Amino acid sequence: MENKTQSAIAKNIADIRKNLPDDVCLVAVTKYHDLAETQAAVDAGVCDLGENKVQDMLAKQPQITGDVRWHFIGHLQSNKVKYLIGNVFLIHSISSLKLIKTVEKESAKRDAVTDILLQFNLAEEDTKSGFSADEMDEALALCAECPHVNLSGLMCIGPMTKNPSDILKIFTQLKQMYDTIKATYLNGVNSIRFLSMGMTDDYPIAVSAGSNMVRIGRKIFYDEEKQHG
Ligand SMILES: *Cc1c(COP(=O)(O)O)cnc(C)c1O
Repeated sequence: MENKTQSAIAKNIADIRKNLPDDVCLVAVTKYHDLAETQAAVDAGVCDLGENKVQDMLAKQPQITGDVRWHFIGHLQSNKVKYLIGNVFLIHSISSLKLIKTVEKESAKRDAVTDILLQFNLAEEDTKSGFSADEMDEALALCAECPHVNLSGLMCIGPMTKNPSDILKIFTQLKQMYDTIKATYLNGVNSIRFLSMGMTDDYPIAVSAGSNMVRIGRKIFYDEEKQHG
């Protein structure tokens, strides 16, 4: 049944896509939204869904119909990694050497290879997880030793500022790191393909800096009529 929410979600997605280059993957972040809203995004043509809690993602998965690629984007505890293996298209939020080792161990147990992104906290904000730039080489070296970990790219959350040039600076720095590893990681055997950056408030800046994967929640699920009506 078509209701207001469904049509609002479809319209918001269409508005976002209009200004998004074709080669940028839109991940709809459904973390605060129920099954009906999540399904509405899929019905509007979104194939990539992002969740930030393991339990919420696993609960939703069997209930959503359609060809969906599930993305885990939230803070991840090592003891929860095992629940993601085999159930996720991509883990965006690998932010420590310990997590890389845990993904390797749990994936090996299930004879799986898990695609991951390394999350960076380039502005070094205390409230965010993520590697610092000078930890990159060590993280890459560890990934290269882990046959059940497929490093697929990099991710960051934009800095907590409204200043566009400060935001652009961080995104540009991650893009440069991405280009470097794309050219050099494993001597060019190329699994590196995703640069995940940009959310509702900053995705146009992220795309201008070279992002090819944006994670958008509020701009999709915000329903003007519901908010004001
Ligand atoms: C919530 C969240 C998003 C989406 O944020 P919006 O501002 O709602 O677009 C993207 N990425 C991560 C890691 C998030 O936690």
